Amino acid sequence: MSVTSPVITTPDLGRATELVCRECATSTPLGPHYACGECFGPLEVAYDFSAGPAITRESIEAGPHNIWRYRELLPVPSNVADIPNLEPGATPLVRAHNLARALGMRALWVKDDSANPTHSFKDRVVACALAAARELGFTTLACPSTGNLANAVAAAAARAGIRSVVLIPADLEQQKIVTTAVYGGTLVAVEGTYDDVNRVASELAGDHDDWAFVNVNVRPYYAEGSKTLGYEVAEGLGWRLPQQVVIPVASGSQLTKVDKAFRELVTLGLVDDSPYRIFGAQATGCSPVSAAFKAGHDVVRPVRPDTIAKSLAIGNPADGPYVLDTARRTGGRVEDVTDEELVEGIRLLAETEGIFAETAGGVTIATLRKLLAAGELDPEADTVVFNTGEGLKTLGAVSPVVGPAATIKASAAAFEATGLG
Ligand SMILES: *Cc1c(COP(=O)(O)O)cnc(C)c1O
Ligand SMILES: [Zn+2]
Repeated sequence: MSVTSPVITTPDLGRATELVCRECATSTPLGPHYACGECFGPLEVAYDFSAGPAITRESIEAGPHNIWRYRELLPVPSNVADIPNLEPGATPLVRAHNLARALGMRALWVKDDSANPTHSFKDRVVACALAAARELGFTTLACPSTGNLANAVAAAAARAGIRSVVLIPADLEQQKIVTTAVYGGTLVAVEGTYDDVNRVASELAGDHDDWAFVNVNVRPYYAEGSKTLGYEVAEGLGWRLPQQVVIPVASGSQLTKVDKAFRELVTLGLVDDSPYRIFGAQATGCSPVSAAFKAGHDVVRPVRPDTIAKSLAIGNPADGPYVLDTARRTGGRVEDVTDEELVEGIRLLAETEGIFAETAGGVTIATLRKLLAAGELDPEADTVVFNTGEGLKTLGAVSPVVGPAATIKASAAAFEATGLG
């Protein structure tokens, strides 16, 4: 008698051991799960870091010059670095002397994540999601996106040689549409807001069980990729934690995972247990987390976004309540700035440090400035501010306010006549 039964194999996801509910702590086996079977709460990857060889500064430093040097801390197969991928990470931690002087700060660094392969921090999370998704048997990489994720998914799938399906709001910046479509794959523009696009993606994820929607059905693995920003900051500071960090908030995942990364480094003995404060930055036109923080609420009331900071325009942020927890627990805040202030933030960073940020970076720099002016940030403390995306993708934000000082005939005399010499 022969019995056919499904082949059950345990995925190789490194030292990850299970998924744990962030609300009720119920454990779920590693797999393509993202919501708790008991309470529908979000699932998070848990690890046994003590299994296998010790994780040391030396073992990390011996790794590749990209996020895979931290692979032992991520839910990815041990051979992840050998599988074709975009190799994101290892972005500059710029000591921002000029910006610090302009803001009256003692020690400021810009973590410039625009230096990733598709010019935003999303390459980190997509690389993690892709590695885990392949291990879990998915054949297509998909996402709903506010723009940067679309770029990262389409490019990563191209490098990996698999199909991509990307859904975007139809009113996205032209630059972000072109920089997604160029990689091939299936790109569909949806008439609606990001939150509408997200709803369509959730429905499709139910119908196509071989599609990994990186930020939906494999979200727990995707989210872990943001930890690498935290690890890189600590390693870049000479294996220590900064005292203050300012991070932009869309879904809020990145902010909470940088905190998780710092706590893991402390637990593993890789850095000293020094206090740090985490600050969140939003655009006023989409500031549900900032509003909840200021009102003293634990829940985030959804809003309809109206801001030029489209990469942060998530009106119903999945990790909003955890951002509130993190900011409050660490003694930070969540603040928001207007579109005018964010444009000033883009210009200030460009003029002081030669870094051209997209609107999200403008939000973060403007929030840094606003928090300092309000006395909420300590100008004497070691501070890291994140630039998560590239200005060339949101040219429309600054094109109305910058340009040539003059247009002249082709002669030196015409130049001198302008008085600009
Ligand atoms: C997606 C995105 C963020 C925020 O990410 P969350 O983890 O969703 O909060 C920040 N900056 C840029 C440029 C982004 O594209
Ligand atoms: Zn639960």
